[in-house]
Amino acid sequence: MDEKKCLLCENVERSRGLCITHYSRFAQAKNALPKEKQAEFEQMLIARKFLCPSRPRGPKVERDEFAEVAAEIAGTPRDREIDANEEPTRKRVERIHRKTGTPAPKSKSKSKKKPT
Ligand SMILES: [Zn+2]
Repeated sequence: MDEKKCLLCENVERSRGLCITHYSRFAQAKNALPKEKQAEFEQMLIARKFLCPSRPRGPKVERDEFAEVAAEIAGTPRDREIDANEEPTRKRVERIHRKTGTPAPKSKSKSKKKPT
């Protein structure tokens, strides 16, 4: 078994080296303290081996590769995307027009193609 155990009991470690029970007790005790004392409280627990230090120091330090890639995509010029989406839409509209018998708006596509 490679499962870690709680620092304070035999239960499976869930967070910060503690089981659910002990972690919730820790969280309760921590939340009962004023904010400026909470870090000190954690440090004391860590020093006494009652708690494991958190690896990522807050969610802000967590690696954000996905967000980076997402930002990259969001930042790319959308012209290409719109163009690619526009064509099938126009074709479908044309087909619908053919089906219903109404003439497709050819003037638009003609002006874009620049007839010689
Ligand atoms: Zn425990």
